[in-house]
Amino acid sequence: MSEPVLEVEALHRHYILPRESLFATPGKVYALNGVNFHVNPGHSFGIVGESGCGKSTLARAVMALEPPTLGNVRILGRDVNALSHDDLRRARKHFQMVFQDPYGSLDPRHTVERIVAEPLAALDTSDKNERRDKVADVLSSVGLKAGDMGKYPHEFSGGQRQRIAIARALITRPELIVADEPVSALDVSVQAQVLNLLQDLQDQFGVTYMLISHDLAVVEYVCDEVAVMYLGRIVEQGPTRQLFANPAHPYTQALLDAVPQPVPGRKRDKVRLKGTVGSQTEQAGGCPFADRCPKAESRCRDGVPELREVAPGQKAACHLL
Ligand code: SF4
Repeated sequence: MSEPVLEVEALHRHYILPRESLFATPGKVYALNGVNFHVNPGHSFGIVGESGCGKSTLARAVMALEPPTLGNVRILGRDVNALSHDDLRRARKHFQMVFQDPYGSLDPRHTVERIVAEPLAALDTSDKNERRDKVADVLSSVGLKAGDMGKYPHEFSGGQRQRIAIARALITRPELIVADEPVSALDVSVQAQVLNLLQDLQDQFGVTYMLISHDLAVVEYVCDEVAVMYLGRIVEQGPTRQLFANPAHPYTQALLDAVPQPVPGRKRDKVRLKGTVGSQTEQAGGCPFADRCPKAESRCRDGVPELREVAPGQKAACHLL
């Protein structure tokens, strides 16, 4: 089997909060707490969880936009945080990002040509004519026209703007694209078109995706494998269809049960979430989900449960499994 495109190993990201007074000990935010996974070439790996679970911090750490407190991110075998500034700039041709907001992520003062060509300019690899040809090519790959190059973002709909953002991510022919909530700002009517485009591009170019979403349906549609995050940890991981059909962790069960559509053939009782996501500023000794878990028992306070295999290819972190 070929080497993974992305390897995330024991990744921690903690932030120190400002002191509340001169002699107070500064608090800490534990945004990521030992995240491990890898993604093989041409696969799509989804990360789901509520707001505040650490999904976006994970995306930024994978993109080397912020350094980990501990642990590693390797892309095509190279530790991105060990690269010099220049090597990292060159390495970025291999991994690009699509942001959530197609309105805020495209500079309204720049033409589509300039926006889409931006990653090439950072690589200093092609002259102006070559760049124009590449922009025209990639625009056609995402369903836009070469004639759109001279236009500005405000001349496009939300779905078209996200196509421009995808073209910008694709222009260096990266092996990995990290997509952070790529359709959540779009009308439901165009979400499927953009997701279909992502799949078509994967078929055409073999690109690997790490896709972050709070929307389980989006992840189910696009991803082969999914990880469910809670308070900076993966609490369940496995093949998407299998995991959504038979969730093992109470948190995954509750997330799925919050989706309005009935699940055909459901055999278990609904699990309802209590309260909101806990604080990332405290590290309790036991299961981080214990305060909200309807199945919690006294032993759940005895240490953080480790991920372990609960079915072929599926892992969950719960003391009861
Ligand atoms: Fe719930 Fe206990 Fe399992 Fe945590 S370890 S998910 S609190 S049952």
